[in-house]
Amino acid sequence: MTMPLVLTDALLANGRRIDVHIADGVVAALPEAGSRPAPGAERIALDGALVLPGLVDGHIHLDKTLLGMPFIPHIPGDSVAERVIAEKELRKSLTVPVEQRALALVRQVVAAGTTSMRSHVDIDDLMKLDGLHALLKVREAARGHADIQLVAFPQSGIVTLPGAAAMMDAAVREGADLVGGLDPAGFDHDVDGHLDVVFGIAEKRGAGIDIHLHDFGPLGCSELRRIAERTKAAGLGGRVAVSHAYALGGVDDAEFGKTADALAKAGVAIMTNGAGPVPMPPVKRLTEAGVTVFSGSDNIRDAWAPYGNGDMLERATIVGYRNGLNADADLALALDLATVNAAKVLGLKDYGLRVGGPADLVAIPAGSTPEAVVAHPVRKLVVKRGRVVAQNGELVVPLAL
Ligand SMILES: [Zn+2]
Repeated sequence: MTMPLVLTDALLANGRRIDVHIADGVVAALPEAGSRPAPGAERIALDGALVLPGLVDGHIHLDKTLLGMPFIPHIPGDSVAERVIAEKELRKSLTVPVEQRALALVRQVVAAGTTSMRSHVDIDDLMKLDGLHALLKVREAARGHADIQLVAFPQSGIVTLPGAAAMMDAAVREGADLVGGLDPAGFDHDVDGHLDVVFGIAEKRGAGIDIHLHDFGPLGCSELRRIAERTKAAGLGGRVAVSHAYALGGVDDAEFGKTADALAKAGVAIMTNGAGPVPMPPVKRLTEAGVTVFSGSDNIRDAWAPYGNGDMLERATIVGYRNGLNADADLALALDLATVNAAKVLGLKDYGLRVGGPADLVAIPAGSTPEAVVAHPVRKLVVKRGRVVAQNGELVVPLAL
């Protein structure tokens, strides 16, 4: 139970000026601005700031970040296999535990308005289930700040790593919400062998699926169609996502068309982070084909990338730049990727700013949603379950184990 709260003079995306009345963690009323607050309610003036439902990061790696440590120089290496080796080397020398680094990142993303996220967590021969156990503690500690979904991510493969399938199954049994995957062809060299394990665990444990797919061109598209077929066969439509899916950005119209159609019909969503020197899935074309596209930060200051800050409005800018999203309606789509679309993929059923809905909100000093995307100014206020957790870009409710 939290104290009643009224956010006065908030701007809605449709231009209306309202007050947001919050009680017991939910939005109690959304009257025109200038309303009378409930007796005893705390009042915070938003002075015309835009209010949106809390941002959703559809793909983050809380266990990988090096935040909370002095800056560590990037180790070069372009292929996924080279990066996996570099990360394992680096991990051996890390002095700050996963929990502390992950918490530093959660504090940062919450201050930037993210109130729900999906984090992958490495399950491999070096980490085994240690990263998962650390993030389960972080998830519990962060419950008042953000909701965290966990994906068991086979960063060193499944078929090619002895014992990986059993560790993945144990990870889901012990609390991971989804089964991950990694380049069934490009990394594991056995598409069906890899997908047998991923879909097998998902069906056995009632979990969703989110697969990293970096494989390019027709090979990657054929894997996407295989994933779509298996999703349909398993009745998992709406609960399967593929992250990156670079292949969709580098094929001819016929290959793209049949792959997008298969994904749309099967209910397989596509995550893009929009950044990098490789082809990217075309957000508008996929959306027009009926595919749910969502976005996420992916790597933030870790062994994979020195970049990233977890700001999902800045992410919308990056995705927008990369996709040539310039008109207001297109910028609204870039924002949808980090709000309604990501919420749909994460299965956040009550998502949205409405009476009776959860009071998970972010206030942004911007005059419209397109301006919020392109300017992504420091967040004025972040509310999670009816409690103000961050103000002016700073956490105001401590978050620690
Ligand atoms: Zn990733």
